[in-house]
Amino acid sequence: MASENRYIHNALKQVRLQAACSSIHGFSISGLATYLQFPEMNFCVDMGECPLSATPIDHVFLTHAHGDHARCIMRHNSLRKMMGVERDSVYYVPESIYEGAKAWIKAEALFEGVGEAKFRYPEIEAVRAGERIPLRYRKDLVLEPFEVKHSVPAMGATVYLHKKKLRDEFLGKSPEEIIELRQKGVEITREVYDPQLSFMGDCLGESLLENQDVFKSKVLVTECTFLDSDEEQMAHKKGHTHLKSIVHALKELGSEVKCEQIVLTHFSMKYSEKHILETIASEIPKEFLEKVVAFI
Ligand SMILES: [Zn+2]
Ligand SMILES: [Zn+2]
Repeated sequence: MASENRYIHNALKQVRLQAACSSIHGFSISGLATYLQFPEMNFCVDMGECPLSATPIDHVFLTHAHGDHARCIMRHNSLRKMMGVERDSVYYVPESIYEGAKAWIKAEALFEGVGEAKFRYPEIEAVRAGERIPLRYRKDLVLEPFEVKHSVPAMGATVYLHKKKLRDEFLGKSPEEIIELRQKGVEITREVYDPQLSFMGDCLGESLLENQDVFKSKVLVTECTFLDSDEEQMAHKKGHTHLKSIVHALKELGSEVKCEQIVLTHFSMKYSEKHILETIASEIPKEFLEKVVAFI
């Protein structure tokens, strides 16, 4: 038991998972630290820790201001500089915490002895629910944030792969005919936004059904802080998701759940790995069990 606890509590021991949209390297235990790197997408959700593997990542989305999710943002920025990465990474933050984030970043820099005259903000972008934002250095990936309910302002988001596809009416045409149509100026393609990844950040379970399009993403990453049957009230009080809310959403949506994988994160630090795996296995409806993975 002791070794199980050590395993899930060690924020520097990275969990690695091959997901359908990208591999996921990271860690997520409630109150300790949460960061989820998607290296093939050049994207990271939250920065509660910043191991060296985060340095090549150019885009970071901050779900909310809690320290265990946010505190290493500036470490990421300075570590990149130290490692000689010239490009500025872009930090996408909910508009509601944008000014606060800037004030905090500046205060931290001044505290560290950076002179007022030398101080320069990193690239921080305020994001709003419903807007579609192409990632700065991966224009084929488009970020769409949405509001979730937590104890403080918080957001989740969906990342789409933006493609152009041949319109249905031209599908049977030969390459020569396609070229001819294109030369005539006919619009032969349509825009397609293919949802690759949705992540909820910290939120109440009801945020899942309130944003039910997340179940259309190839991969859904959702928090699951509480597991035990006497903890539903606690989950609500603390603004977190109980496993029962995930089960409820799955039953409610049934065949509308299109995700290939549903990755559960952010378990309370009081659970052992064994307890987490056993509870998931006994509570998740059988037809979804293959899709559900615990990120531990
Ligand atoms: Zn958290
Ligand atoms: Zn939180």
